[in-house]
Formats: sequence, structure tokens, C-alpha cells
Amino acid sequence: AAEATVLECSGLDAGYGGAVVCRGLDLRVRAGEVVALIGANGAGKSTTMLTVAGELAPLGGRLSVLGSDGRASLASRARLGLSYVTEERSVIMGLTAAENLKLAGVRADAACAIFPELRALLGRPAGLLSGGEQQMLTLARALARDPRLLLADELSLGLAPQIVSRLLAVVREAADARGVGVLLVEQHVRQVLQVADRVYVMRRGKVIVEGTAGEIAADLDAVQRAYLSAA
Ligand code: ATP
Repeated sequence: AAEATVLECSGLDAGYGGAVVCRGLDLRVRAGEVVALIGANGAGKSTTMLTVAGELAPLGGRLSVLGSDGRASLASRARLGLSYVTEERSVIMGLTAAENLKLAGVRADAACAIFPELRALLGRPAGLLSGGEQQMLTLARALARDPRLLLADELSLGLAPQIVSRLLAVVREAADARGVGVLLVEQHVRQVLQVADRVYVMRRGKVIVEGTAGEIAADLDAVQRAYLSAA
């Protein structure tokens, strides 16, 4: 059977107040699918993510997130199974890793099942974890709550390539093993193409190319020359 659609937008306009940044976006993510949004700086990727997450009101078009429309509150989206993680370190630095999990209502065992690396770090203040470890904690905390749609905006910003691969592998596994639908924004295009099913390439607020990760990878040099250089 076809997998359920967890995110769908058609003709979506997104932006800030009156300033439309993204126009006419058509995007879809199904359960168990990892979909990447790539594009140069300023292309509108974060604006798109903020709108899907419910932080920004849509400026036009249709948006359906886990069956609710684009105007549902953040709290009701979270109840439906939406999780939004970003590059911002969202852990509380003065609390231990275990305390950070507990505060979110997440069992340490559940988080360690996702990232076994966390087991040895549970008693450490989050402020003393490396940037990569903090993002593992963030991602484990999000996935342990069994989201149906994970939005990840540059989760691996500024991290070493090895950590980037590790975070992406866990995202892939969540999609495969738990059926999480994932929309992710990444600067590490080569790495993301290894885990993504499909890719949307954005430029100046529009999706200008879409394809399977294999299709985009086969044409990566041309895609990079044409679209991923400065907006
Ligand atoms: P980056 O990789 O640099 O984050 P991006 O593809 O995520 O790029 P956005 O952050 O969505 O791009 O920015 C798209 C456009 O929206 C840019 O022109 C930016 O100046 C504009 N923009 C971002 N934030 C605001 C804001 N708060 N108010 C008005 N315009 C904004």
C-alpha cells in the first residue's frame, strides 16, 4: 500500500509579515521517506521549514501537516507528532544529559537505544558535551518521542564530517525502522544524497528541480554550478 502522506503543500507562499520569500511551493513527504531541501544561502529553505513547523503563518496556498491544516497551533502539531530540530543548541547547558531527557519526558533508555553513544554521557552537564554530542542528544530526544514527521534544519551545522554522517545515518534509520517522515535542510549535499530518498532544489524562493537522490547525485556537478552557488 502507498505510504501515508505526512506533509503536503501546494502553491504554498511563505515569508515574514507582508514579505513573501517563497512562492508556489509544492512539497510532499510520505511516512518512512527522507526528503532533502537543498539550495544556496538565502534560497528560502529555513523560511519553508519555519512555515511547515508552524512558527510562521503561511501567506498563501495549501499546507497540510499530519492531516491538520497550515493554521493549526504549534501545540496541536506537536500532539499529532511533529518534531522540529534546528542547528541551535536547544539543550539546557547546566543540566546533565539525563536531566535534559527527563525534562522532555523522555526515558534515557529510549534515547540510548537511538544513540548508544549517549549512555556514557548521561551524567555529564550538557554544556560540557561537544557540539556533536549535544546534537546527538537533541536528535535522540526528538526521535525518542516517536514523531511521525521530523523537520531538521541544518542539524549538523559546523560539525565534523564524521558526526554529520552519524546524525544522518540515525535519521535514515528512524525513517526505515519507525516510519518517520523526514524533511531536512543540509549544506552537506554529498552526504545528504547518500541517505535521502528525494531532493528538492530551491533557488530564490522556488523549487526549481526535484528528483530522486540518485538523479540529483548523477547530475551533481551541473546542479551545483547552476543552483547551489550564491542566490
Ligand atoms: P541559509 O542557508 O542562509 O539559512 P535559507 O535558504 O535557509 O538560507 P532563508 O533563511 O529562508 O534562506 O532566507 C530566505 C530569504 O528570507 C532571505 O532573503 C532572507 O533575507 C529573508 N529573511 C529571513 N528572515 C527574515 C525575516 N525575519 N524577515 C524578513 N526577511 C527574512
